[in-house]
Amino acid sequence: MIANKMMDIEKIDKSRIDQVEWDNLGFGKVFADHMVVVEYHNGQWETPKVRPYGPMHFSPAISALHYGQAIFEGLKAFKNDDGEVFVFRPEKNAIRFNKSAERMCMPPLPDGLFVDSIRQLVEMDHEWIPKGEGESLYIRPHMFAIDEYVGVRPSESYLFVIFTCPVNRYYTGEVKVKIEPKYTRAAKGGTGHAKAAGNYGAALWPTKTAQDDGYNAILWTDAQTHEYLEESGTMNVIFRSGNKIFTPELSDSILDGVTRDSVLQLAKDWGFEVEERKISVFELIDLLREGKLDEAFGAGTAATIAPIRTILYQGVEYHLTDTTTWPFTNKISPYFDRLKRGVEADSHQWNFRIL
Ligand SMILES: *Cc1c(COP(=O)(O)O)cnc(C)c1O
Repeated sequence: MIANKMMDIEKIDKSRIDQVEWDNLGFGKVFADHMVVVEYHNGQWETPKVRPYGPMHFSPAISALHYGQAIFEGLKAFKNDDGEVFVFRPEKNAIRFNKSAERMCMPPLPDGLFVDSIRQLVEMDHEWIPKGEGESLYIRPHMFAIDEYVGVRPSESYLFVIFTCPVNRYYTGEVKVKIEPKYTRAAKGGTGHAKAAGNYGAALWPTKTAQDDGYNAILWTDAQTHEYLEESGTMNVIFRSGNKIFTPELSDSILDGVTRDSVLQLAKDWGFEVEERKISVFELIDLLREGKLDEAFGAGTAATIAPIRTILYQGVEYHLTDTTTWPFTNKISPYFDRLKRGVEADSHQWNFRIL
């Protein structure tokens, strides 16, 4: 851990916590009191600072804004009735953050900086962690290029910043998805496996079109043939048919989700046959037609476990059964909720205790 003397801390004068409408948190619009800021100059990460959350100052010429050298992460802190605070598998996010950095030609964070900064910030703002069902403190680490230079080349200076938001679930209720037959989120050889800011900007237009038609999210297909399922833009997708749990295999166009990994591990623990492989749209449609697709859900930190009730493909809607009858989804979802709050045996030692 970074000793406190190694962090330069400036606390807020007066907390804004009294102004929060706790029954209307939504997702990502309320911000806790503090943020972490770490500057990178001349090949060195400087002393981490904690500052009151608020606007930052930089030039309009920074390369993050023009050429998209920007990456992020998303994880959550949970609090239980005893006031204990946990973050779920943060070292997985730390590793993924450095992989994203490498792909985007950004400097890696030194060992410990990611997790220690989160620990410091969450400890300071722990009163902002809501305890209600489905609620948590969303943690958003990110890094962006800040050279004041209008030329396309890797920046020489960066900011690593973390802020937090008390949130509710991203999706409330069942999800309707559209299998995308035309547009592409990520191509082979591209940046789909990195949490790179540009991936999300590029997905906005097709996603908005799907939303205008009444679908919550897109189920992306491969860029070359649009025949194989990939993932949804903020969550991986997982299916069950009988005793088989299956999901698209990882590749450089699919984000290696911590939730996906955890679901697959638990499915194995619980005796399911787990398959990570190519899944064609036609296989999925056949299963739907035969009534053999028993469950389908999105898996992600923000989305948690989001049951998919309706799937649109080429103008035809396919419906799954009533999601309240799904055994796997309805077992794993509350199991995760308890596990992440530290009230379920943590057999894989996934929880990182903060308080
Ligand atoms: C963040 C993200 C996910 C989910 O990853 P988790 O580690 O489970 O939160 C899935 N797909 C994409 C594209 C993402 O950005």
